[in-house]
Amino acid sequence: MKKNVVCVGAHPDDEMPCAGTLAKMAKQGHNVYICCVTNGDKGYFDLSVSAEELAARRLEELKAAAKVIGAKDFVDLGYLDGEVLLTPSLRADITKNIRKWKASVVFTHDPWRTTEASLDHINVGLMTCHVGVYSGFPHFHSEQLKDGIEPQRVEEFYLFGSSEPNFYSDITETIDQKINSRLCHESQITQALTPLDEKARQMLEQRLRRTAAICGKHIGVEYAEEFKAFSGGSGHFDWFPQGVISK
Ligand SMILES: [Zn+2]
Repeated sequence: MKKNVVCVGAHPDDEMPCAGTLAKMAKQGHNVYICCVTNGDKGYFDLSVSAEELAARRLEELKAAAKVIGAKDFVDLGYLDGEVLLTPSLRADITKNIRKWKASVVFTHDPWRTTEASLDHINVGLMTCHVGVYSGFPHFHSEQLKDGIEPQRVEEFYLFGSSEPNFYSDITETIDQKINSRLCHESQITQALTPLDEKARQMLEQRLRRTAAICGKHIGVEYAEEFKAFSGGSGHFDWFPQGVISK
């Protein structure tokens, strides 16, 4: 059955930990969408590049990466980098996109990662989990229920960057897409708004293959990604059986 899959990330390259799985699901015919919360306007070490210039560049990079992944659509909510708080407007914005895209599968940051230091990652992950278990309740942001927007229950959650992964996804067939989509985020690789040279490209590719190969060992495949997975209950998580993402 065709699923609607939404990745909610804090920054314009945060879809990367699940890019291989998103690409695989798109290949299988599922509808894949990317929701980026911030414009990434502070992800740079050189003040000669303005925040506005960087945000515009990162939006283009996200657009290119989404295309490589095979996403049907993406949105950047335009929050400022480093300033994501647990506000009613963030809750409304994420809820609206989960409902608009009728998401039954959600990928986001693991907000309970023991070594997570980014408040953006923590708050986006936490709010997305909160929204995912409440977006099916019609009284939850009932003002949105018009123009075809309906309550939407999320059934599967996959949290990336987790310190306690319990789920592995075989991405052997989409590792190239994962690498190529990562290469779209040039401003985040060498901190230069110029095309990558061959050496930087090779180093990145080796690093991504090495990490994915370590994950792959857990399920006996060449390359994999890892997640903390939960089933979505009404207002809470349920436990997910340990396993691999197949369909
Ligand atoms: Zn990030």
